Amino acid sequence: MGFRVKFWGVRGSVPVSGPEYIRYGGNTACIEMRCGEHLLVFDAGSGIRPLGESLQREGVGKLDLFFTHCHYDHILGFPFFGPLYGKSTRLTTWSGHLAGRMSTREMVESFITPPWFPGKIDICQAKFQWRDFRSTDVLTPQPDVVVRTASLNHPGGCIGYRVEWGGKAVAYVSDTEHLCDELDPAVLSLMNGADLAIYDCTYTEQEMPFRVGFGHSTWQQGVKLCRAAGAKRLAMFHHDPARTDGELEAHERLAKAEFSGAFAARDGLTLEI
Ligand SMILES: [Zn+2]
Ligand SMILES: [Zn+2]
Repeated sequence: MGFRVKFWGVRGSVPVSGPEYIRYGGNTACIEMRCGEHLLVFDAGSGIRPLGESLQREGVGKLDLFFTHCHYDHILGFPFFGPLYGKSTRLTTWSGHLAGRMSTREMVESFITPPWFPGKIDICQAKFQWRDFRSTDVLTPQPDVVVRTASLNHPGGCIGYRVEWGGKAVAYVSDTEHLCDELDPAVLSLMNGADLAIYDCTYTEQEMPFRVGFGHSTWQQGVKLCRAAGAKRLAMFHHDPARTDGELEAHERLAKAEFSGAFAARDGLTLEI
């Protein structure tokens, strides 16, 4: 049993569907990581719904769920995560972007409640454990799994993660805005020598001047960061909802020409690390 990463949602902002989104998929952020027998899930965008179905089929009921932050595209699938309604589920939920302002439990309870949702969190039968942390804390959700954390540059705050297990490392860095001609030292440390870096590639450098302050980055910046950090592969992630399959394919080709380890993440893609 190795280190496996599966993308269940790769879109940013809002889910999309239609013939122009078939190949890369339309679900918003959700990533499954298996470290041996341990299951870690990052973000609860619409992609967590099909993940829940898959876990129920497999009979897996114990997991750690990490939120980067609570913008809609990263939480909207949470109430539709089937295992929440199963008695045998044991869910440990983590967040740090609101440290000192709101606990993980308060954050989740504030969006699973009427009038935004038909019921409150107590309709879920899963056993919850709630974990709060502060940016730069080093977490050990399991004795042999290390999760490093850092603050990203995003309106309202966001946490980037680095998961280390079995001598391998995967960085998950979404959502974040880069500053012109600067490499964020926090992002570099998360990506340092990583086997896989998942990075916010919402825009292109050509679009960036019109998107300053939106809190997102570009595939060109992802390539620069991976080179500087010595990361092996770059997963272009958090695709703009307007980006069609044809456009993403073109961006993927351009990125690959600059950095052979680059590829555009797509719903359902599984990688062995
Ligand atoms: Zn987002
Ligand atoms: Zn966001």
